[in-house]
Amino acid sequence: MAEPGQATKQAAKQTAKPADQPVVVELKGVRKSFNVGLPNETEVLHGIDLTLRRGEFCAVMGPSGSGKSTLLNIVGLLDRPTQGLLKVCGEETTALADHALTRLRGHSIGFVFQFHNLLGAFTALENVLMPLLGDAGFPNAAMAERAAELLDSVGLSPWRNQPAGLLSGGQQQRVALARALAMNPALLLADEPTGNLDTQSADAVFDLLRRVNREQGTSVLFVTHNPELALRCDKTIEVVDGRVVAQAGG
Ligand code: ADP
Ligand code: MG
Repeated sequence: MAEPGQATKQAAKQTAKPADQPVVVELKGVRKSFNVGLPNETEVLHGIDLTLRRGEFCAVMGPSGSGKSTLLNIVGLLDRPTQGLLKVCGEETTALADHALTRLRGHSIGFVFQFHNLLGAFTALENVLMPLLGDAGFPNAAMAERAAELLDSVGLSPWRNQPAGLLSGGQQQRVALARALAMNPALLLADEPTGNLDTQSADAVFDLLRRVNREQGTSVLFVTHNPELALRCDKTIEVVDGRVVAQAGG
């Protein structure tokens, strides 16, 4: 049975303005250098400030080599800034130990990349199950049910027992999205998830991201070269040579 007041809370959530929503990601003066201390040391992010609130869908545009993936890897706690502050889901992360970052990442962040990184010999369902397994060796009934629901939500129930490697590019990207959503992350990082797809499949993947964002309030950073898709986001930032040179919307 629904808790009393739940419907009101839900309605309040949906009508709340983005500016009233909690901050999910905050970067202040983030710099990133590679090969620190070596003769080929290079700084590729030169002081990025960025705020992403709950439910915000932000496009990240900019030329190749400008630092978009480096930025996403840092926000996703896969890499650390050389300087600056990064808060994710209210936690200041720069001082956290690796194991604490891994834990925060696992609970809060889902990733979808251009090249899906599915395990091609495993079925669609098994790929979605993997993040749910945690330390368990075998899935229990609740995990299997959750994985099946996730596949259903991306329209892939009929393909659940197909090896992922045999699915089309668009289908594989939808499996990757279902897998990214397994832990119900507050933040979804999508690095050119539609870059390798035909227009129709790209639209289908984008529509799914939008739906998750609207229905669950998931915050999304979406790297794309496609201006039409960027227009359908709440805001756009443009990264050129390691700096945010333009912001629109939001
Ligand atoms: P984008 O995603 O916008 O194409 P990237 O973030 O991948 O750009 O790359 C930004 C710059 O950082 C590029 O010049 C790239 O060569 C450099 N770079 C990225 N990763 C590394 C790395 N691990 N070591 C050294 N340089 C890197
Ligand atoms: Mg990139």
